[in-house]
Amino acid sequence: MTSNEIRPDALIVGGGIGGLSTAYSLARQGLRVRVLERASEFGEVGAGIQLAPNCTRILDDYGLLDEARSLGVEPTRMVMRDATDGAELSSLDLLDMRRRYGYPYLVIHRSDLHAMFLRACRRVGVELLTEQHVVGYSTTETAARVELSDGRTEDAGVVIAADGLHSVARKLLVDDNPVSSAYVAYRGTVPADHPRACDVDLSEVTVHVGPGCHFVHYGLRGGEMLNQVYVFESPKALAGEDDWGTPDELDAAFAGTTEFVRDGLPHMWRDKWWRMFDREPLDNWIHGRIALLGDAAHPPLQYIAQGAIMAIEDGWVLGEHVARRRGDGGVDWDGALAGYNAVRPAHCRRVLTTSRAWGELWHLGGEPREQRNALLRVRDVYDYSFVDWLYSVTAVDPQDEPEMFTAVPLAAATTG
Ligand SMILES: Cc1cc2nc3c(=O)[nH]c(=O)nc-3n(C[C@H](O)[C@H](O)[C@H](O)COP(=O)(O)OP(=O)(O)OC[C@H]3O[C@@H](n4cnc5c(N)ncnc54)[C@H](O)[C@@H]3O)c2cc1C
Repeated sequence: MTSNEIRPDALIVGGGIGGLSTAYSLARQGLRVRVLERASEFGEVGAGIQLAPNCTRILDDYGLLDEARSLGVEPTRMVMRDATDGAELSSLDLLDMRRRYGYPYLVIHRSDLHAMFLRACRRVGVELLTEQHVVGYSTTETAARVELSDGRTEDAGVVIAADGLHSVARKLLVDDNPVSSAYVAYRGTVPADHPRACDVDLSEVTVHVGPGCHFVHYGLRGGEMLNQVYVFESPKALAGEDDWGTPDELDAAFAGTTEFVRDGLPHMWRDKWWRMFDREPLDNWIHGRIALLGDAAHPPLQYIAQGAIMAIEDGWVLGEHVARRRGDGGVDWDGALAGYNAVRPAHCRRVLTTSRAWGELWHLGGEPREQRNALLRVRDVYDYSFVDWLYSVTAVDPQDEPEMFTAVPLAAATTG
């Protein structure tokens, strides 16, 4: 596909969940939006994705919540278990949580979520272009330009770089690299009538936490499918080997877990795996008329399931600032980008650092594991103090950002 001659108001680089949801957000403000995607077609690889109330609130504002609900599953409980003995440690009542925050917790196939945004973009006239490999960026005080691998250039009032973990645009702001966690994820789905799925309650999101590993499962597509994710620390990564995260390591990593956890291992996709990287948080995402968004700005470790949600929130917040600063002469992009930059990096910094800490807590062994389990067992199911800061609101202005929770030290646990 090639682009037409009319200059768009906004160019978005990357047609992942972040890029497409942002394209929709800006187009519904009446802007001409063009998405430049490197791949030969729009799509997503992987299986399930969890959408917490801070995301479903935005989907509702977009008029997309009913569609998302019809594509996904609304689980009733989220449960944490110990992977080595199967004991229940803590849970959330997701139906009560829906009452508290006003919006549901959904789980959905990521290709369904991506396709939903693609359809929404088409409805509002977003120009969606594939095979557009952006290799360079430049900015003036009033516009931004991207350079493509074939030498062409494209201009717009603003460029939103939603080009993922290995973002080219990020280099305009910081010379950093992805940080390896030495953890790797395996994913897989089986149909609901598969013997493995018969052992599983598809109405629950469950995570089994173990030393150096964890296992997550939940239902997808109205309960027609079981999604399973196995994550572990790779000994080969720790030893500095290049070939890390391979299937032999997967089986070894879960050897000490319960039979139920191990029984899912043969049903994982074994020909691909996801090494888990994040980056250090960045406090400024703006370079002239170029803004980072989604994983380009804040790739997290996945332990609190907020990566795609943060990207969707970024686009929604940017849209809110555009709405405030849109007049007859167009958008005051400097004001809109400043508003976006005043609130999102600080929020995402919290998510990135909490995700790392949450992962460390999940993967404890020895006495710290006992202490963690003791703390989780005494937590009240209806205590929301650890999720209010995430789920209660998506702040458009810094003063609306909820207070952060106070972590409980492991030493506070009564064990034995
Ligand atoms: C195991 C696992 C589980 C997860 N679970 C959850 C979850 O439950 N909930 C949640 O919210 N998040 C979850 N995430 C995180 C989530 O998947 C990501 O944070 C999210 O998909 C990032 O979206 P994005 O659009 O910013 O980036 P990407 O999905 O990486 O999209 C970037 C796009 O840009 C394109 N692109 C890249 N470079 C260029 C270029 N130079 N020119 C043009 N196009 C380019 C790419 O082709 C791609 O389409 C999970 C991640 C993993 C690995």
